[in-house]
Amino acid sequence: MDYHLHSQHSFDGKSTLSAICNSAVNKGIKEVCFTEHFSVDPEVPTYGYLDFHKYFSEIDECKNKYSKNLIIRKGVEICEPHLNSKKLQQTLKDKDLDFIIGSVHNIDKLKLRNYIKNKNNFEAYKGYFKEVYNAVSLGDMDILGHLDLLKRYAYNDLGNYIFPKFEDILTKILKKLIERNIGLELNTSGLRSDVKEIFPSVHVLKLYKNLGGEIITIGSDSHSSELIGEGFKLGINILKSCDFKYVFTFEKRKPNAVKI
Ligand SMILES: [Zn+2]
Ligand SMILES: [Zn+2]
Repeated sequence: MDYHLHSQHSFDGKSTLSAICNSAVNKGIKEVCFTEHFSVDPEVPTYGYLDFHKYFSEIDECKNKYSKNLIIRKGVEICEPHLNSKKLQQTLKDKDLDFIIGSVHNIDKLKLRNYIKNKNNFEAYKGYFKEVYNAVSLGDMDILGHLDLLKRYAYNDLGNYIFPKFEDILTKILKKLIERNIGLELNTSGLRSDVKEIFPSVHVLKLYKNLGGEIITIGSDSHSSELIGEGFKLGINILKSCDFKYVFTFEKRKPNAVKI
């Protein structure tokens, strides 16, 4: 399955839902969950782009067209789920979603690539992880998206982060996830970035497992149809090496374990 996908219903997506479903079937993927960007904050780029009515009616068309060979779930990826959380809840409560990813894409209204300007490695990652902690403490989500995403933007100028330096704050984040019954995403898009590493790193996945974390989803975060399922063989092998036995799918925001 692929549980992180963007189509033309996201401001930065390139493919139609149908093209993505077609690609999934060709690659032998059995289940997809679309997770289009959504925000209620007028100051972020994704605001006002997603038309739920159109999105859901196209999903229904795909469900009919691919009913024999593909399970299709409807989700969203929310920017900064801890901000405007009342408005978000209000907007999403009647949408009958299967899955919500909570992600930090902006800090203090700045895109991450701008947020890191004039910061050193420690300041940048510390600020980012603090924001993620706020997101998982307050936001309504099923899964935390691409924890440690900042390394994609920081890698070339500030480098990757040294895990032991941030183990305390990462432990706080992961404990909060477990306490609130929120899962963690293994996102393979990092393999396609300069850092060439999954989000989050193996150290973080192992820490999550050691703390008692179980709920993991896997997603390519692809913005075009040919990238669906990219890096999943490696991703699944990494999960197995960390002793995870399952990845999860979601239906109406309820997790289902699938053996790996
Ligand atoms: Zn994202
Ligand atoms: Zn995404």
